[in-house]
Parts: sequence; C-alpha cells; structure tokens
Amino acid sequence: VVVGGHRPTQLVIDCQALRANIHTEVDRLAAGCDLFMVVKANGYGHGAVQVAQAAKEAGATGFCVAILDEALELRAAGFDEPILVLGVTEPADAPVMVEQNISVAVADLEWLELATRSLSLFEMVQPLPVHLALDTGMGRIGFQTKAEVEVVVDFLRQHPAQFNFEGIFTHFSTADDPNDDYFQKQVAKWHDLTDWLPQKPRYVHVSNSATSLWHDACNGNMVRFGAAGYGLNPSGTAIAEPYPLQPAMSLTSELMQARLVPAGSSVSYGATYTLPEDEWIGTVSVGYADGYPRRMQGFDVLVDGQRCEIVGRVCMDQLMVRLPHRYPRRTKVTLIGQDGHERITLQDIADYCDTIHYEIACGFTTRVPRVYR
Ligand code: PLP
Repeated sequence: VVVGGHRPTQLVIDCQALRANIHTEVDRLAAGCDLFMVVKANGYGHGAVQVAQAAKEAGATGFCVAILDEALELRAAGFDEPILVLGVTEPADAPVMVEQNISVAVADLEWLELATRSLSLFEMVQPLPVHLALDTGMGRIGFQTKAEVEVVVDFLRQHPAQFNFEGIFTHFSTADDPNDDYFQKQVAKWHDLTDWLPQKPRYVHVSNSATSLWHDACNGNMVRFGAAGYGLNPSGTAIAEPYPLQPAMSLTSELMQARLVPAGSSVSYGATYTLPEDEWIGTVSVGYADGYPRRMQGFDVLVDGQRCEIVGRVCMDQLMVRLPHRYPRRTKVTLIGQDGHERITLQDIADYCDTIHYEIACGFTTRVPRVYR
C-alpha cells in the first residue's frame, strides 16, 4: 500500500468536530442509553482508530464495525470497549471472537450450530457475546418471524457456556425519510418480534443516526451512531438537523502547475473542453484513483476563496481547473471544505454525482494520507 506522503493532497480530519457531534448526541440520549460509534469502512474513510479515539473521548462506550477484521484492528490498537460486528461472520472464526471478546450479529440458527462446533474444539475462556439480528423490513439479514426468534432464544438458553445472549437489534431502511409510513411498519414488526421476550438482553438497539436524530427509539438502550458523528446529515438534505452537525472531513491539495493555455487548445482525455479564449489552467494532483469521482468534471474546487471550475475530464491522478488569473505553484486548493466564504461539502459532491455522501466519504483510497487536527 502506497500512501502519498510526497504530494500535497490530504484528507484533513477535524477531531474536534467528531467529538462535538458525538458529545452532543450523547447528551441528548436518555439516561442509561449507550452510544456505540460506527467505525466500519475505516471510519467512513476518516480513519477507524482515530475516530474511535475521538468517539471515546466524547462519551461513546463501544464501537460497531461491519467485518471481523475491522474489530481486530480496534483490539490491536488497544481499545477494550465492546465492539460489535454488524455483518454476518464466519462461524469458523468464533474462537478468535471469543479470544478477543468481540460481539457478533447472529442472523440465523445455522450460524450458531456451526459456531458451537468450532467452539467445541476450543477452550472457552468466556462465552461468545451475540446480538440477534431481526429483519423487520430492511430485507438484508436476520430472523423474520416470532417463531424463528423463539427457537434461537431457546437455543441460546441451552448453550450458556458457548454464547452470551448480549443483544437484540434491527435496522431501519427509511429512518431518514420524511414519510414515516414504512418506518412505522418496521416498528410494529419489531414489537411483534420482541415484546414477548420474558427477559431482554443487555443491549436492545434499533437506532442508526437517522433514528436517533428523528425518531422515538423503541425503548432501545444503545444507538449505533455513524453518519451524524462524522457531521453528515443522514437524510442528505431531506430533513433538518436537530443540531448543527460539523463535517469532519476536508480534502485539500495544491496547484502543481498553473499555465496560460491558448484559446483553441483542449484539456484532458477526450478533448472535451476547448478553451474559448486564453485561460489560466491549474493542475491538481488528485484523481479518481484517490476516490475523487471522475464524474466531477464541471464542478468546482476552491482556490483563494473562489470557486474554480474543473475543466476537462478528471484523470486517474490529476485534474485541471480554470483559474481567474495567474496563481503560483503550491497555491492551496480545497476540494472539500471551507476557503474564505466559500464551502464545498461532501453532500455537494454526492449531489453532483447523484449518490450519497456515505459513498464519497468511504471511497477515498489509502493513497490519500489522513491528517488529524
Ligand atoms: N447500524 C447498521 C446495522 C448499519 O449498517 C449502519 C450503517 O450503515 C449503521 C447502524 C450506521 O448508520 P448511520 O451511518 O446512518 O448512522
């Protein structure tokens, strides 16, 4: 893995913003409700270990990840808080989960049966903490009927040496939608699947950021806080934030070269932009290999507090912008973030690419160094 330490392109991560977002949410939660920061996909591109540290300082009491390797990264970095793997794991890896005290989502009975087998060859220092995933309408993973939940709860009761029934959860697919019809259907299904439980496990959790920001949390006692912790409105722009979220990620670089290019010349692959007059063209060392989308042609970057258009196609490693006049080499270029009175957000980039900020944030590649402020 090559990290570009010898070029000026950087993702600047504002740890103060991370802490402020998370701390505000922790303060809003009911007493006794935990916040687990979701740091999957390298902390949505921000850096999992650094985000986990900031989250912990701001009051997060645990972490969620998507795959086992991400949990192991946090353990290796020294975090001893609860870590929950939200995705489906390999039952054969159950011993390492026990060894590292990592909690896992369980989405079917077969997983537990197979894990029981792999654990039978292993000296149990403690039971494996499991969280039952209930599919109330996300249609992704988990138990779908009350009968299935009854069977799995019974199985867990019969295997206390192997499993600690630590949690039960679901995931909402439309918590970020101003129309809550489908959300309410999922809530009803959740009650149907869980209300009968004679004893609730330690963690009952239904809330992602959107649910925590905008909905009543079904008596959950933990929230899985992702996007909003990074300062990103999970709804995009559909629902107003209950408090100002502070974006933590900026992307900055510098002009590598700025030249006066004559009228009639074209810029970049395909010669899709032809200069109508002589123009100052600046070249920036960032491209789609860094995760800056190729579709950004025609959008702006900020130079000296002014918006400058990206002209011609975005290349793998470079892009070109039209400057209002000459600027020296090494002039700062802001692709995401604030410069003077102008600001470009991840949301702006996502809108321009017809996608969501999540995809842009976690799409930045390892070639771009993350620096922490
Ligand atoms: N819970 C689950 C199961 C998830 O998959 C995710 C992320 O997509 C989250 C919580 C966090 O969601 P958000 O980033 O919208 O807060």
